[in-house]
Amino acid sequence: MKNAIAAVLIICVALPSCYTAKNTNKVRKKPKRIILLIGDGMGLTQVSTLFLEKDNTNNFKRFRNIGFINTRSGSHKITDSAAGATAFSNGVKTYNGAIGVDLDTNAVPNLVDYFSERKYKTGMIATSSITHATPAAFYAHTNHRNNHYDIAQQLLKSDIDYFAGGGRGYFYPFVSDMKLYNWQIDSSACCEFNTNFNFNEDQRYGFLSTTGALPTMKLDRGSYLKHASEAALRYFNQSPFFMMIEGSQIDWGGHANDYDYVLTEMKDFDETIGAMLDFAEQDGNTLVIVTADHETGGLSLGGQNYINKNGNTRQRYNVVAPSFNTGGHTTTLIPVFAYGPGSELFQGVYENTDIYHKIKSLVR
Ligand code: MG
Ligand code: ZN
Repeated sequence: MKNAIAAVLIICVALPSCYTAKNTNKVRKKPKRIILLIGDGMGLTQVSTLFLEKDNTNNFKRFRNIGFINTRSGSHKITDSAAGATAFSNGVKTYNGAIGVDLDTNAVPNLVDYFSERKYKTGMIATSSITHATPAAFYAHTNHRNNHYDIAQQLLKSDIDYFAGGGRGYFYPFVSDMKLYNWQIDSSACCEFNTNFNFNEDQRYGFLSTTGALPTMKLDRGSYLKHASEAALRYFNQSPFFMMIEGSQIDWGGHANDYDYVLTEMKDFDETIGAMLDFAEQDGNTLVIVTADHETGGLSLGGQNYINKNGNTRQRYNVVAPSFNTGGHTTTLIPVFAYGPGSELFQGVYENTDIYHKIKSLVR
């Protein structure tokens, strides 16, 4: 053993490259582009619906680096989406309802600020209003999630380069800001997203496709989320970028205790994940992270009840009867799936605020 160590030392002294080679092992490869996909209200059971209903061909099977996060907020055992997104974007545990501010309502710098200062392009895409809690925490600072007009104005003044979603109604008072801050706003009605949209890289783009939230998948949202996300990739072109994509309505299906609503929204989110993984595979320089702010509905995938001949309740294990146990959120651990350079950093069990710190540590 001593001889082996001595031999390595001799080689290292003799070869200057040895020192470098030894250390590059420890230097993590950093991605040039980071895509954070948030399935609002998506717990492990919501992910499991795809294994049940999509014949195992879903895109979650493409991930190898998996972790779990504890999502409790700074004020409650069970978080809401505002505190949940602030944990990701600003790295602080705050009170439910807070957007980009700490427990004392002080504004905290966010990932978009951090990336923009380093010349990354940034984008936000959601199937809710773009001023809704999850996207809002990535660009705004306000003491309550319901301050939609304040949030809309902060979006226009932020460093974000591209956004798409609903919420046009909140932007009407700020038409002059749109020109002032170099925005080109597209108000084409939802939901045929123009996949041939002609981008000019010196311009910022905002797609405000509905007055309020986008329609559900059960109505006719089509492939809006996937197409708006792919258009963003085209707009960003070869630049480094940070983009947040939200499957906003998985949460709303949970609140409504509507299994079909959850499932159709999960399928839409999964297709968007697939498109982003396709891009990342081709690019080789893109990190894709998929997680959620919390679970919604206490969704369970148990067997269907029946009464046996002795009058006892039993369960059929080949007939799944989805059920919910709350109309609100739950505090179950939430999975994190990561793919690409830096993805191994997302293994383990940690706090939701660590997502912020891990992403930040991967900035070049
Ligand atoms: Mg949300
Ligand atoms: Zn919710």
